[in-house]
Amino acid sequence: MSKILLSGGSGFLGSHVTDRLLKDGHEVTVLDNLLTGRRVNLEHLADHPKFQFFERDVAEDLSDLYEGGWDAVMHMASPASPVDYTRYPIETLRVGSHGTENLLEVARHSGARFFLSSTSEVYGDPEVHPQVESYVGHVSSTGTRACYDEAKRFAEAITFTYHRQFGIPIRVVRTFNTYGPRNRTDDGRVVPNFIMQALRNEPITIHGDGHQTRSFCYVADQVEGIVRLLWSDYNEPVNIGNPVEMTIREFAELIIELTGSESQLTFQPLPHKDDPKRRCPNIDRAKEVLGWSPQVSPREGFAETIAYYRQYAK
Ligand code: UDP
Repeated sequence: MSKILLSGGSGFLGSHVTDRLLKDGHEVTVLDNLLTGRRVNLEHLADHPKFQFFERDVAEDLSDLYEGGWDAVMHMASPASPVDYTRYPIETLRVGSHGTENLLEVARHSGARFFLSSTSEVYGDPEVHPQVESYVGHVSSTGTRACYDEAKRFAEAITFTYHRQFGIPIRVVRTFNTYGPRNRTDDGRVVPNFIMQALRNEPITIHGDGHQTRSFCYVADQVEGIVRLLWSDYNEPVNIGNPVEMTIREFAELIIELTGSESQLTFQPLPHKDDPKRRCPNIDRAKEVLGWSPQVSPREGFAETIAYYRQYAK
């Protein structure tokens, strides 16, 4: 049994990781300022004896937690959808920079391993396909996505620096587009947007020509990869994602088919000039180091997710 401090536990991915860690018998203390996360994601844990929640912003001083006796400190807090981080760009920069430093200090003082939830966005609009961990990226430092991309790149840089300077064990996951239950209907991501539009028979809003690609990973697979990485002894970044690549247009058509919707496609301008044109993980490292590969096919995962969103589509 380990004692784990986890930021961002009220978010979509953080709440699933919290559930899993508790299920595995660990003690979990969540810090979250509820900027984009939701209380309802953790409501079912209110009376759990090994669970604690504190409404706190990790970009502020955390020195009172230095003596917490943590075995692992996990930093999963950040606005993560393009709509959310465009709405909260300063908070996004702060949680990736000050927040990462503050949590690294907690890990350093308590001798804990440090886990960083990073992202495929560190590759920017990539020129290498599929993206391997050794690829250093093609990233705009001035565009509208830079508040997220560069905050995560800084977060990785300071994490690796703490590892070199202080010998802190680090785990860095680069998550690729993850979806599933608890992802907010209104966070603007393509999966909730298209499913909600399809369920309501509204037009499906494709940005640009729909030829850009993404590779979607079901949340249960993502959580499995994260937990395996957390308990591994591997200090380099690891991509976790599902390498089934599809265009956004193909994705829209799949959702129409799976929902039996009457929705039509409608095309809108791209909201971000630096919207990645292709994204697909190379997962050789996760296979080799963690023995991990996705188990849920896109069709199965989307069917589960559609079933979840039906309650909100009435
Ligand atoms: N997208 C879209 N329609 C929407 C929302 C998103 O066509 O209603 C596109 C978006 O421009 C991007 C892709 O879908 O090319 C994935 O967007 P998302 O916001 O899910 O996350 P991203 O992978 O860009 O971080």
